[in-house]
Amino acid sequence: MKDHVDTALAEPKPSRAVDQSWTIQVDSLDAFPDAFLELDQDGRISAWNSRAEFTFGWPRADAIGKRFCELIVSPEQQDVCEKAFRDLLQPKAASSPNRRAEIMGQHRDGHAIPIELSLFLTCRAGTGYLGVFARDMSWHKHAEEGAEKRLHDLINQLGEEYFETDLRGNYVFANTRLGEYYHVQSGAELSGKNFRAFFSPEDIQMLKQGFHEVYLTGERRRQEFSIVLNGRLIYVEHTVSLKRDSSGNPVGFMVLSRDCTERKLAQMELAKAIEAAEAASKAKSEFLANMSHEIRTPLNGVVGTLELARDTEMTPDQRELLDMASASARGLLAVINDILDFSKIEAGKLEFECIEFELREVVAEALRSLAIRAHEKGLELAYDVAREVPRFLLGDPARLKQVLLNLVGNAIKFTQAGEVLVRVDLPEAVSGPNCVRIRFSVSDTGIGIQSEKQGLIFDAFSQADSSTTRRFGGTGLGLAISQRLVNLMGGEIEVESEPGQGSTFRFSAKFQAGTGAAENEVAAAKVQIRGLRVLIVDDNATNRRILERLLASWDMLPLSAGSGREALEIMQRAAASDTPFDMILTDCRMPEMDGFQLVDQIRNSAHLPPVSIMMLTSDDYHSSASRCREMGIGQYLIKPVKQSELLSALCGLLNAQTGPEEIASLKPPRREQVRTPPLKILLAEDNRVNQRLAVRMLEKLGHRVVIAGNGREALARLDEHEFDLAFMDVQMPDMDGLSAAAAIREKERGGLKHLPIVALTAHAMSGDRQFCLAAGMDDYLPKPIDSKQLEQVIARVIAAHPACLPHPLAEVTIPCGVP
Ligand code: ADP
Repeated sequence: MKDHVDTALAEPKPSRAVDQSWTIQVDSLDAFPDAFLELDQDGRISAWNSRAEFTFGWPRADAIGKRFCELIVSPEQQDVCEKAFRDLLQPKAASSPNRRAEIMGQHRDGHAIPIELSLFLTCRAGTGYLGVFARDMSWHKHAEEGAEKRLHDLINQLGEEYFETDLRGNYVFANTRLGEYYHVQSGAELSGKNFRAFFSPEDIQMLKQGFHEVYLTGERRRQEFSIVLNGRLIYVEHTVSLKRDSSGNPVGFMVLSRDCTERKLAQMELAKAIEAAEAASKAKSEFLANMSHEIRTPLNGVVGTLELARDTEMTPDQRELLDMASASARGLLAVINDILDFSKIEAGKLEFECIEFELREVVAEALRSLAIRAHEKGLELAYDVAREVPRFLLGDPARLKQVLLNLVGNAIKFTQAGEVLVRVDLPEAVSGPNCVRIRFSVSDTGIGIQSEKQGLIFDAFSQADSSTTRRFGGTGLGLAISQRLVNLMGGEIEVESEPGQGSTFRFSAKFQAGTGAAENEVAAAKVQIRGLRVLIVDDNATNRRILERLLASWDMLPLSAGSGREALEIMQRAAASDTPFDMILTDCRMPEMDGFQLVDQIRNSAHLPPVSIMMLTSDDYHSSASRCREMGIGQYLIKPVKQSELLSALCGLLNAQTGPEEIASLKPPRREQVRTPPLKILLAEDNRVNQRLAVRMLEKLGHRVVIAGNGREALARLDEHEFDLAFMDVQMPDMDGLSAAAAIREKERGGLKHLPIVALTAHAMSGDRQFCLAAGMDDYLPKPIDSKQLEQVIARVIAAHPACLPHPLAEVTIPCGVP
């Protein structure tokens, strides 16, 4: 200290901090409440007031002339004290009004006294001195310690573990709870130990990281980790905050520690339960898909064989037997569909549509399909829809019809005489704006149901009287399915019945109110354009694909061309085979030959019949529009085209009176009139019976078929011959249909022509279609195969893929046969 004091005091002119006029009257210093002393340049005491005598126990006579640090400061604190003096006398501290330091001094009798020093420089008789006020802080310290003790007592009462550490992580305080937790006698036992001692190296890393972040950000942080304590795995949650001293400097960490083992275990149990439930649901769906496949495959054989056999010559007896077998097979299919439906509902996989429909139409259709059965039994079948029931609703008409079919079917089944009546009305409660609750009731005059059985009949596979099973037939699934469907439509189903008197089943369902207008228009428009042959001309493949799919979904027969030149070739071939196009939908801006040039060429060609043309423009609409008008192009739309716009433009084109040429060309061939040209078809199917059936059905349609027993064989056949179309069973041994389709698409990427592929699958789960399309297939036909659907899918695929057309069969001889 001496050097620094010397430096500070030895200046020839005292610094600004030194008051020249200040002279110490030692006697007057006795009046100060704090100890005051003055030190000369050697740090020796030159003034000592009576309070200093009292505080430190040294009489003035004994104190004067002694070095302050040696007399008052305990030996171990002397360095600290010297440093404090040095720091206070630093030039940078000179401007600070508070030159203060806290040191631990000692009384003459040896007891320690915490003192706070305030220093200032004085000048007396031309010599510099250091004035020191020394305040005894014992009372403050006691008060502080008392407060801390009370706080710690309080913390000890906490139901949670709490500890404090220094910046190195050594415990400075741990509450009793933490002591108990770590099985030590008291929290104090932990003092000095590093809290990391209880953790694994990985946890220590994580904890250090967390503490470090708290230190850097000063923000509270939560950490969760596990430790093994006395052989037991426990989960702990720490809330760590920074501990600061009175000047705000970080001095350690405060940690609230919580045992969250119970919560953690409960969470893990829950996660496991969810995982198990998901696995069970997945297994159920897979089982469902497999069951659907396994049952439908042989059933496909039965239904198809019976259908083919009915077309052969046979005696009336044989025909009757065959009809019975056919009815049974279809009945079996209905049962399987019921089981699948039920499982789908249970697995939460049933999807509901939301489309606009005409309620009276749905009710009428449901009854119409059951009318023959009712009339055969001599039953009156009637329906009454209250006038206030809205005509158009938004919802799933197919599911509503399914419920009605079941209830009315049951009513007819369990009624020998009398009538079956369906009523539809609006209950008073309207659920909300735009939402209508409709009430349906199906009453019969049949056998009725005993009251104790009425609650059971909605359970799956249960019937009111098991003896009726044989008499009336049925699985006991219909009402269970109906109840779930009704619930999914936001309603309830109930029964009121009297044995011998008849039954009334009532249910309600929620729908949104429909406008009707749009639906009517759309339906009418779709009827108008159905079956029309359209050529799409666009250089952009994605646009072509989108338009093809859209038009095909409206039952039109679209073909595509990637350029004006290709369009002209296709049109010429179509005209030559007497299947000219009804409409051309051409893009305006295309390389080489643009839309307008194409129209010119079509108009000027001697070989092409007149045709209606629609232009799709993507650039300056106004100039294109006026050019279209000048050229007499019937309709023009700006891209991207909205579905509704396209539909009404197509109808507009159809009805347009743009000129005698166009009108003359509007002879829409109806769908059923369109004959698919004979095709070379590859059939990949592993099941023998189904092979034979499909071959027979395809041959009946005039096509020739080559069979492959699995995907690998199909690829081999494709290497040997060119085909117009492939039917691909999805599930086959060795290589399945999805892999084969993907392999074919991969090969085509090398420049080969696109082979249209139709998936044949016994899977009836929703999503299968997407799987097939995602694998590169073009369409999808569920089994059992129906010959009408087969014909339709071929027409659809051919229309969508002109590549099928250019192979006259005569050119190639195909080995065709059924093993
Ligand atoms: P299923 O008719 O296939 O057996 P449902 O679930 O449709 O299955 O019906 C369950 C049972 O409820 C029937 O077996 C029959 O006992 C009883 N039931 C249903 N509707 C009527 C009805 N209209 N009259 C008398 N009993 C009925």
